[in-house]
Amino acid sequence: MSTGRLTIDLDAVAANWRALDAKSDQDVQTAAVVKADAYGLGVGKVGRALAAAGARRFFVAVAEEGAALREALGPGPEISVFAGHMSGDTDMIHDLGLVPMLNSVEQLTLHFEALPGHPFGVQLDTGMNRLGMEPNEWAALRDLVLAQNPRLIMSHLACSDEPTHLMNRQQLETFHEMTEGVDVPRSLAATGGILMGPDYHFDLTRPGIGLYGGLPFDKAEPVVSLDVPVIQIRDLAAGESVGYSNSWIAEHPARVATVSGGYADGISRSLSNHAVLFHMDTPCPILGRVSMDLITVDISHLDETPKTLTLVGKHQSPDDLADAAGTIGYEVLTQLGARYARYYARGRG
Ligand SMILES: *Cc1c(COP(=O)(O)O)cnc(C)c1O
Repeated sequence: MSTGRLTIDLDAVAANWRALDAKSDQDVQTAAVVKADAYGLGVGKVGRALAAAGARRFFVAVAEEGAALREALGPGPEISVFAGHMSGDTDMIHDLGLVPMLNSVEQLTLHFEALPGHPFGVQLDTGMNRLGMEPNEWAALRDLVLAQNPRLIMSHLACSDEPTHLMNRQQLETFHEMTEGVDVPRSLAATGGILMGPDYHFDLTRPGIGLYGGLPFDKAEPVVSLDVPVIQIRDLAAGESVGYSNSWIAEHPARVATVSGGYADGISRSLSNHAVLFHMDTPCPILGRVSMDLITVDISHLDETPKTLTLVGKHQSPDDLADAAGTIGYEVLTQLGARYARYYARGRG
């Protein structure tokens, strides 16, 4: 076995969904965001575990992602698409029974012409300036759109990882103004919005990262662990260098493990000379550059020769690793490469 071993705890995913569901009232529906292959963890397995936990509504980023999810879930659950209805999507939206969140006049026109009567939702821009219709656009189209019975009106918060940021209240107000008197289910909150409390919940919440054990849901159960095998061990004399560009030079004799895993597996090159792996409870620093397929690690201080080292586990979460790499847990998770052997654990049956 020479690839890393990525373990995904599906019971933890289910427990996180239930915990986030319990944060809003009984009559608020909790959906599940499974875009980007369920944040890199495998949309088929994760989607089924979430459906078994009770999720009935799923969101993907683009229509293409609906295919694997529909295959995993069967015909019942609703699958919505954040990117809306793009040209070329019509057959997928129709055949897979997807619900596009329409983002613009162009998309509305395309949808109503190509698939009249097919369910859709609307995405409004309340200030993030990324997707959705702007207030003036929406004001002009609102009655026409409402006459077509949208299934959902949604918007997205730009700063919900900072609950005290003024932008949150501003977007909430704008969302209220834009949807006042509208008798259609509304949704504003992703994971961060759920944690900000009932003002943000409306009729449906859309957690993603929290399901997968990531911040800002600091009470999440950990979902992912990653163990990488040691390929070779060597002893260095003082003055010898390790890896590309000789970026680490031994000041003392040292013992170095070369492990299988590198930036092609989503282990960021910015962790070079910077982060640690673990042998049980003992941190082992990365020495030198992270290369495409390999990392070199200091094991001078260990009493035994490890067969594997742990990059993500109980001592180091994806968010910890993200801090070391100067990014966010979302990026660490979604970058975890396709080369790992994946094990889907059902920790608690
Ligand atoms: C990704 C995304 C979500 C989920 O966000 P998390 O922060 O992962 O919970 C919800 N809504 C939209 C529009 C998104 O793009």
